[in-house]
Amino acid sequence: MTKRELNFEGTSPLLYLVATPIGNLSEMTPRAIEVLKEMDYLSAEDSRNSGQLMAHFGINKPFISCHEHNEEEASSKIVSLLLSGKKVAYMSDAGYPTCSDPGERLVANCLEHGIKVSCLSGPNAALNALAASGLDSSHFYFQGFLSPKDKARKDELEELASRKETIIFYESPHRISKTINAMYEVLGNRRAVIARELTKSHEEFIRGTLEELAAIEEDTLRGEMVVVVEGCKTIQKEYSDEEILKMLQVEIKSGTSSKDAIRKISTDLDLPKKRVYAISLLLK
Ligand code: SAM
Repeated sequence: MTKRELNFEGTSPLLYLVATPIGNLSEMTPRAIEVLKEMDYLSAEDSRNSGQLMAHFGINKPFISCHEHNEEEASSKIVSLLLSGKKVAYMSDAGYPTCSDPGERLVANCLEHGIKVSCLSGPNAALNALAASGLDSSHFYFQGFLSPKDKARKDELEELASRKETIIFYESPHRISKTINAMYEVLGNRRAVIARELTKSHEEFIRGTLEELAAIEEDTLRGEMVVVVEGCKTIQKEYSDEEILKMLQVEIKSGTSSKDAIRKISTDLDLPKKRVYAISLLLK
């Protein structure tokens, strides 16, 4: 029989997850401050980041560090404290806990021990970027970070290529150019948006096609970034290699360079440029 108990009634302990600002401290909600002030212990990834935030709001509580590398151990400690009647909140360094950030194992561990979990709303980089992107927001897929390794990143993109929903990626500034180029190569020339430094004074939305975004100087793409990419819009017709070869021949015969013909056909048919390029080698 499923046990039911309202989150803010009953006797079972409750873990609070708290979303925190992603750049603009004014986005800390009054409710988050109120709940954090009521806690016996606060937990987060890094005492420096959350320490600054807590200092700003005049909150000073015993701190438990819980990050990717100690989450199992730290979550056991938090579970024990909650079971002993102490109040504990877990917050992210920025945005939502568990969204490309630790917290998932802590939540699972709490649920296994009959501890309820509630999440206080707040900022989230993916949703801010999506909402202002101008791309279809009715259905979306959150990918978060792609692999930092070239081959694994391409494989992940290949898997995403046929998704119809808008896709949301997180990326760090030192990999942004490589990632956008890989997206262009694998996904074709789709509309995309780089949402940079969200909620900060230098917030910027760069809207264009993947080809246009790939041409941007990496030096000008600093800070934190979300990349939002249009889903696969064509009804995927299966094109045979022979059909693609014929289209390439027609384009090249009409005077288009081989490079432009590959780009045009991969964009028009929404096919990975890699495949069209491989077929073009048969012409040589
Ligand atoms: N938990 C966070 C959330 O809910 O959005 C995400 C944390 S993840 C470790 C960090 C990544 O989120 C960054 O590399 C960047 O892709 C994105 N991000 C965080 N803050 C951002 C901001 N102010 N502007 C743009 N992207 C941001």
